[in-house]
Amino acid sequence: MRHHCAVSSTTSNRPLLPIGEALARILERATPLASEDVPLAHALGRFLARPVAAPLDLPPFSNSSMDGYAIRAADTPGPLRVAGESAAGSPFQGTLGAGEAVAISTGAVIPDGADAVAELEIVDVFPVRAEIEIDADIEIGAAVAPGASIRHAGSDIRRGAQALPAGIRIGPAQIGALAALGLTEVPCGARPQVAILATGSELRPPGEALGPGQIYDSNRPMLTALAQTAGATVTTIPSVADTEEAHLDALTQALTHDVVISSGGVSVGPHDLVRGAGRELGIEEIFWRIALRPGKPLSFGVRDRGPAGPRSQQPPTLVFGLPGNPVSALVCFELFVRPALARLQGAIDPAPEFELRTLATTTRRNPHRDDLIRVRITPEGTAEPLAGQQSHQITASALADGLIRIPQGEGEIAAGSELSYLPLHGLV
Ligand code: AMP
Ligand code: MG
Repeated sequence: MRHHCAVSSTTSNRPLLPIGEALARILERATPLASEDVPLAHALGRFLARPVAAPLDLPPFSNSSMDGYAIRAADTPGPLRVAGESAAGSPFQGTLGAGEAVAISTGAVIPDGADAVAELEIVDVFPVRAEIEIDADIEIGAAVAPGASIRHAGSDIRRGAQALPAGIRIGPAQIGALAALGLTEVPCGARPQVAILATGSELRPPGEALGPGQIYDSNRPMLTALAQTAGATVTTIPSVADTEEAHLDALTQALTHDVVISSGGVSVGPHDLVRGAGRELGIEEIFWRIALRPGKPLSFGVRDRGPAGPRSQQPPTLVFGLPGNPVSALVCFELFVRPALARLQGAIDPAPEFELRTLATTTRRNPHRDDLIRVRITPEGTAEPLAGQQSHQITASALADGLIRIPQGEGEIAAGSELSYLPLHGLV
């Protein structure tokens, strides 16, 4: 049993919001944005705004799944005469009669009159030759069943049937399916316009010399990259000094966007000014402080677009105040911001896709918060916690394959336990 010191801050007495509840409160407020038609070549990583129906049968015509001879099954086995050829893109023009075969290649149209394909491996040609010759004599060495090696028109999908449902993410296989259907444009959820700002008087952009007490701003580039992989269009706002005026200026600019992501300044210190400035600008805070390590001080709120103007009809701006510690910012983004951005784009199932993984080493639990620890996946497929689990250790996190959720509680979780694992990949 652990013992705790008496808590002095009033805020510390409030129970922390469980992370599932926090996500639910965010998704409730993330209304999908308008949709737009996107050229297929630019649709990778976007979300389908509407179901896509097949404008044609696939395949559009019955065709051969093998190189061989189109025949009448009833004529096999036995000798046949070659009446012509059906090559991919050049159908045979006539009708196949009794005792006839048409040389056929994979993907070529099944000629009228044929009801099966004999694959090359069971066919002898007399005299033996490589090219196809009209009137050549061939011998089919085995009985061929009706329908053998035929891919029927519409056997992949029928015209008018739903090919893809709304709300799925478009990956390479979906691009392939849409192209097979001959589509050049895809209805996609609009990309969220996201403003990213980093607060902290200690921050300098990489490339500048560091003065005493200064550090490089890693969150703004990281959050920009994260938001881009989540499909957002990003505006970055110059670093925000720890003054109220700088916060009000930066947030005012940021609030014209669909989503605001700030880093730093959401804790209880005297220089943590984000929530106060947000309140002054009319942000309604939905929650602050959650049962998560790292990431406890996360703040989430919404702000209406205002009574007039071109954006007044749009859903409220979502405002995420991420903690300044870079690992906390990363974890909070993956658990809360990425799902919100997916929902804004119309995702049906935007929650993080946890898998089950086996924990490689016994790990201490946190009695108050779920711990999202950084792990690498071993060659055996188990999840091994990395050295360097503190929330400032971003270079240690850069070696992680993903996050393992250690549920809050007393004691330890034993090696070999099956736990929820969230891969950290998201490059598209
Ligand atoms: P804060 O939440 O503002 O109290 O910041 C917590 C810690 O994160 C402090 O050590 C900050 O220096 C650090 N930090 C805040 N913002 C950034 C940033 N953009 N990049 C890197 N570290 C940061
Ligand atoms: Mg700060």
